[in-house]
Amino acid sequence: MAGPPCACQTCAMSDGTPTPREGTRLDPWYGSYAQRAHQMRASEIRALFAVASRPEVVSLAGGMPFIGGLPLEELGEMSRRIIVEHGEVALQYGSGQGDVTLREKILEVMALEGIVAHPDDVVVTTGSQQALDLVTTIFIDPGDVIVAEAPSYVGALGVFRAHEADVVHVPMDAHGLIPEALEQTLARLTAEGRRVKFLYTVPNFHNPGGVTLSLERRPQVLEICERYGVLVLEDNPYGLLGFDTEPLPSLRSMSPEGVIYLGSFSKTFAPGYRVGWAVAPHAVREKLVLASEAAILSPSNASQMAIATYLEHFDWQGQIKKFQVQYRERRDAMISALGEHIPEASWNVPDGGFYVWVRLPDGLDAKSMLPRAITARVAYVSGSAFYIDGSGTDHLRLSYCFPTPERIREGVRRLATVVDAELET
Ligand code: PMP
Repeated sequence: MAGPPCACQTCAMSDGTPTPREGTRLDPWYGSYAQRAHQMRASEIRALFAVASRPEVVSLAGGMPFIGGLPLEELGEMSRRIIVEHGEVALQYGSGQGDVTLREKILEVMALEGIVAHPDDVVVTTGSQQALDLVTTIFIDPGDVIVAEAPSYVGALGVFRAHEADVVHVPMDAHGLIPEALEQTLARLTAEGRRVKFLYTVPNFHNPGGVTLSLERRPQVLEICERYGVLVLEDNPYGLLGFDTEPLPSLRSMSPEGVIYLGSFSKTFAPGYRVGWAVAPHAVREKLVLASEAAILSPSNASQMAIATYLEHFDWQGQIKKFQVQYRERRDAMISALGEHIPEASWNVPDGGFYVWVRLPDGLDAKSMLPRAITARVAYVSGSAFYIDGSGTDHLRLSYCFPTPERIREGVRRLATVVDAELET
């Protein structure tokens, strides 16, 4: 029986259409993969990475934070001292749940968004990406339904796909996820007898949508999920990166038993340490630790000690304020360049985070336009990456986090020539 076509490069390059039971010329093990491996796709962002990182290309594609804004000399000295003075711990295996000193510090970070928790509630992970994988591992059997915003973070969709979840999108507007649409979707799925395991949501400065779930809607979303017995997975890497706004209370702060909260140091400090965390109701947390131990034994002690030392001895809140100023300047550069050069498109103006979600003029397709953009030396991510079914090609995501304001303006100028050329064809 022929299975679904595999999306991996090896198979795509092979002759004919192999069935999952057969080997191919380039991959003799093709027939041995688990079904879930056949669902895996190279992310559109990864495929772009090689091209977008060429120096002549202005990349408005990736969500890479502006590391140049960090005090690198001082951080280097900090790392040296950790290894020289505490190497026996830093270079050793550690606790599966994560270092307790760091877990205590994480409580201080989360307090800024109204979360009151105990260090035992926190599980340290290798970035929040691993936390997404752990949550999906413990909750999802093939065919289970995950409800997620339309559009949704591409990396979460990749995890959900790998676990063979059925993702059902719910629309957002300028105020985030629309409660009425959520209610309708849950009612329909319930009537169809489908089991919804959780709602995946990025409530602050959404990736890729740029929008924030309003204060008014937060209790509404929680109430609807509670009524339908649906757990909420709150993914919040950008919450402290608001430009002119105080952080809104997190969903977890409003419903400790109904929400798994994911945090990360990737955007407020540095992704290279690969440290994130999950906060979950007690029994869920136990399962997360077991799943994490099975996957990685323990998160990196050296990274955790670096983050804990940074939080203890550096002005981390001052650094976040600096990031806010730098990212706001970049956001402004992007928004004004869009207004000047591509007025026929439309977009939201994000109050924080990294992303502008752009709707192309009618008839244009972000995916098919991309080769022309690369030729014009500018990169973006097609909206299709953020939908489970690959729709959304009428949108693209622009990131303003990494390039300088001048490069951003140049990138948008180049993009405008591409849009103009497409409109003429
Ligand atoms: N969630 C969202 C919404 C993200 O944008 C990202 C990174 N781009 C992640 C999770 C993963 O972040 P990390 O693993 O670096 O913590």
